[in-house]
Amino acid sequence: MTLLDKAVTDLSVTPNLLQADILRHLTFTVGKDAPHASVHDWRLALSHAIRDRIVEPWFASTRRTWAEDRKRVYYLSMEFLIGRILEDATINLGLYDAAAEAMAAVGVDLRAVIDDEPDAALGNGGLGRLAACFMESMATLGCPAYGYGIRYEHGLFRQHFDHGRQIETPENWLAQAHPWEFARPESAYTVGFKGHVESRDGREIWYPQETVTAEAFDTPIIGWQGKWANTLRLWGAKGTTNFDLERFNRGDYTAAAEPETLARTLSRVLYPDDTTYQGKELRLKQEFFLTSAALQDILRRYLSSHSDLRALPKHVAIQMNDTHPAIAGPELIRLLVDDHGLAFDEALTIARACLGYTNHTLLPEALERWATYTFGNVLPRHMQIVERIDSWHRRAYPNRPHYVGIVKHQEVRMGELAFIMSHKVNGVSALHTDLVKQTLFPELNRLHPGRIINLTNGVTPRRWLRMANKPLAGLITDSIGAGWEADLDRLRGLEPHVEDAGFRERFAAAKRTNKVALSNWIGREMGVRVSPDAVFDVQIKRIHEYKRQLLNILETIAHWHRLRSSPAAGWIPRVKIFGGKAAPGYAVAKEIIRLINDVAEVVNNDPVTGDLLKIVYPPNYNVSMAERVIPAADLSEQISTAGKEASGTGNMKFMMNGAPTIGTLDGANVEILQEVGAENFFLFGLTAEEVARRREDPDHARKAIEASQPLMDVLQMIAEGRFSPDEPERYHQLVHRVWHHDYFLVASDFEAYHVAQAEVDKAYADPARWWRMAALNTARSGFFSSDRTIRSYMDEIWQVTSAL
Ligand SMILES: *Cc1c(COP(=O)(O)O)cnc(C)c1O
Repeated sequence: MTLLDKAVTDLSVTPNLLQADILRHLTFTVGKDAPHASVHDWRLALSHAIRDRIVEPWFASTRRTWAEDRKRVYYLSMEFLIGRILEDATINLGLYDAAAEAMAAVGVDLRAVIDDEPDAALGNGGLGRLAACFMESMATLGCPAYGYGIRYEHGLFRQHFDHGRQIETPENWLAQAHPWEFARPESAYTVGFKGHVESRDGREIWYPQETVTAEAFDTPIIGWQGKWANTLRLWGAKGTTNFDLERFNRGDYTAAAEPETLARTLSRVLYPDDTTYQGKELRLKQEFFLTSAALQDILRRYLSSHSDLRALPKHVAIQMNDTHPAIAGPELIRLLVDDHGLAFDEALTIARACLGYTNHTLLPEALERWATYTFGNVLPRHMQIVERIDSWHRRAYPNRPHYVGIVKHQEVRMGELAFIMSHKVNGVSALHTDLVKQTLFPELNRLHPGRIINLTNGVTPRRWLRMANKPLAGLITDSIGAGWEADLDRLRGLEPHVEDAGFRERFAAAKRTNKVALSNWIGREMGVRVSPDAVFDVQIKRIHEYKRQLLNILETIAHWHRLRSSPAAGWIPRVKIFGGKAAPGYAVAKEIIRLINDVAEVVNNDPVTGDLLKIVYPPNYNVSMAERVIPAADLSEQISTAGKEASGTGNMKFMMNGAPTIGTLDGANVEILQEVGAENFFLFGLTAEEVARRREDPDHARKAIEASQPLMDVLQMIAEGRFSPDEPERYHQLVHRVWHHDYFLVASDFEAYHVAQAEVDKAYADPARWWRMAALNTARSGFFSSDRTIRSYMDEIWQVTSAL
């Protein structure tokens, strides 16, 4: 009898409890016999065994919150880009080594089990990933909190390349059993749409024409060292009316299922773009679906132990992640007035004291505004309330300019609505917050001085350093002792070590371990051999014109051109790594993807340049790919047009992992530069002010191109079809746009970027200088822990204290 057989039949003999639990779950939860279990079966068994260990701290946290009547934070977000859960939860519980040992004992590789888990990709990019980092930090800090979102059946699409072109296929994360969630069919709310409003006895009564049921699914989120756990509650939509048996019995099967199908569309798919405003009724319905279900749940919970709704702000803080849940203002007023009988003004005061709004973008195309026709049709009662809020605000602030307001030009402006209905409005980096004050809400900022505050974003160091980069995390612990994961400012303790050559060698060795692992993965996945001796130069993020992947690939072509002209000049080899998805309808972004892939095809097969330059673009960038790539990066590309990237959080992950930034003065790059020092950052490019001025010259692009021979040559090569020999005119439009419609100033920043890239080579050629610089990036990244960000939210917006 093997240990395995014995373990299944007699749990008491297994040497370790976790292993016994895994086998018990394999048998009784998954229903598989160990000798026939697949990696997938083992993953489910391990996940259940880990989840069991989260449940106790989770219950304890909830009990404490009730017993001490603590104020709770409710984080409303249309996106949670969580990624994988198993490894993160295992590490936070301190069970990683035990899990590895338990799996090894049954002959299974823990890494394979971890990699079997599909990413929960319920978000597009930075905004959704921020929400996920915040959930983890709130749990780590013992901040009693719920995340509220939508349980999309299909998360962000999967990306493939077909001859270099992006192909989207549906993502299906729920196709396999999802072991982390608890279905709560008993926690369900009705959400209405459309219909009409009747006045009766001075009260307004909304009779919705459509209703759906929002059903809760809870995922516990465990903090560092398992001291506290919060709940991520995602809503699934289903029909309110029962299945139409009569129609079914008549043989009308499709019609019988139709109401259900329609209801379910609300939580069917994630909108694949958060940088463009979608004037679609389904989007508005999704936003209201999330918000109404969350607010009903919040009030139910509050009223189960309180009776005075006027005290709500003492117990409830609600944060709106961008304007997507901005209907929370009017909806909370509606619930307080229509369902609970409060006066309008009183309800407005309560709602505003509860609500906070985080602005994430200045891009005009992303600012949500709804035609009053659509808004009034989908949410007739809310249209009345919005108008009433607007007229209240106009009367309360007689200095308000006539052109300022929520309802203007037959549109409801969600930014203004969120601003007016919040007690605090925050930007996500120092520069962004200044621009929010100056350009987005200058008049409202004057009327409400002090309402706009800055809370620079952060990322969780547990996932992005401790978990993703074990070689570096180990070196840090060896150097400064344990415990830095929850006190990231302690990384400053690495500073004296950077003068020690032995430490720098160990730092470089950790990076090399990660680079070798990434090289192997790239070889396996893409069939391209890349050398770990090269500089790994990485730009991974959504593909967008403002993020300027185009600038990167144009400069890469210029570099290739120079290499070819003197291949023996002692160049430092480079691997250019790209990753990212384009919104399916964003034609220009897709053209950039295709260009990168076309250039890679030519460059990677050039015998003249060989290992001196490789370009790889692994498809389907997501959280787990970021975890693989970022620890292996030597250089972090953060090259957006100044004034356009609100914060960036990718930039912070790279910094933590010891990759210096090549970047512009944009978003949180400004603060990264400040923390790390100019000598450890490759700064280039126009500032936000210079960008604005430069654009006033209608000839800016032509002048910049004509002043740069390398850029002239690059554009010429692309225009001649050097990278698209089967279709030489493929990029004519793209080249034309650079010459004549270069809104994002690719041409104007090209030379400076080219020079900064040469500086990178120079620095890398001097290992003492380079590894000092890399290590100082890690040492000075403490400010960018999302723990610091969450502490500020707790103090400055939510007025909530830690339960730990
Ligand atoms: C961090 C992260 C982002 C945000 O990256 P930026 O460079 O700040 O745009 C987007 N997607 C994923 C998967 C991430 O992990």
